[in-house]
Amino acid sequence: MIAGRHSDRNVLVSGAASGIGAAIAQRYCEEGARVALLDLNPQAVQAQGEALRAQGFHVAWQAADVGDFEQCQHACALLAEEIGRVDTLINNAGISPKHEGKPAPIWQMSPTEWQQVVAVNLNGAFNLSRLLSPSMVEQRFGRIINMSSVAGSAYLPLVAAHYSATKAAIIGFTRHLAGELGAYGITANALAPGRIETPLLKTVASAANEAVIADTPLLRLGQPCEVADAACYLSAPDSAFITGQVLDVAGGWLMR
Ligand code: NAD
Repeated sequence: MIAGRHSDRNVLVSGAASGIGAAIAQRYCEEGARVALLDLNPQAVQAQGEALRAQGFHVAWQAADVGDFEQCQHACALLAEEIGRVDTLINNAGISPKHEGKPAPIWQMSPTEWQQVVAVNLNGAFNLSRLLSPSMVEQRFGRIINMSSVAGSAYLPLVAAHYSATKAAIIGFTRHLAGELGAYGITANALAPGRIETPLLKTVASAANEAVIADTPLLRLGQPCEVADAACYLSAPDSAFITGQVLDVAGGWLMR
C-alpha cells in the first residue's frame, strides 16, 4: 500500500461487497481515492460501504446487476453524483457456478447457466466500460482493469466451460480496449488471479484447493489483498506505460 498514491482518483469497483472486490475497494480507499462500490447484493454492499465510511473514507455504494445495462446506467449516474466522474474502473464482478462443489461438464450445462455467466462475467465488463469510457475519453485519462483468471488461458478442471470462455474473452476485450483507447490516455489491463481465498472458493471441495497448493511454486493460496495490490499498481503512475497486458497473480501456478 502506498498512502496517497490514488488521492486524485475516482474509482468504481464492481462486485465490491465480497472477496477480491472488497479488498480492492479497501486498498484504493487506503491509497486516498474516492471509491464507488457496486454489487448485486444490496445488504452486503451497504455493509461494506458503511464499514469503509466508518474508517473515514470517501465512498458511495449502489446495488445493481452488472449484466443489466439499464441498472448499470442508473447506478453509475447516482454514484457519479456522490464521488465525481469515474476515471478508474475495476470490472471485478464475476461468478463461477458449481453443482455440489463441482463444475458442470458441457454435456450437462444448461443454456440458462451459460447465459448467466456470460451476462455477469463478460457483458458486465462491456456495460460498465461502455458507460464510463465516454468521460474518460473526454478528459483524456482513464484506467480500466478487467478481472480475468488463469482459467482464461489454461485448462482448469476446477471451473466450467462458461467460466473459461468468459475469462478468455475478457483478455481479448482488454487488448481491444487498450488499442482503441490508448490515444486518449486510457490504459486497459487484465488481472489473472490463481486460487485466491475468497467466498467463491467455498463453492469447491477443499481437496481441490489442496491439490492447487501442491502445484503452486509458492505453496499457498493467494489473498484478496494481493490482487488488490496488483490492481492498484496497474492504475498508479508507476505503470503509466503498461497497457493491453495480463498480469498473473497466481504464485506461479499454471505459469505461462
Ligand atoms: P466473490 O464471490 O467473493 O465476490 C464476487 C462479488 O460479485 C460478490 O459480492 C457478488 O455479490 C458480486 N456479484 C455477483 N454477481 C454480480 C452481478 N451480476 N452484478 C454485480 N455484482 C455481482 O468472488 P471473488 O473470488 O472475490 O471473485 C472476484 C473476481 O475475481 C471474479 O471475477 C472471479 O471470477 C475472479 N477470480 C477469482 C478467483 C478466486 O480464486 N477467488 C480466481 C480467479 C479469478
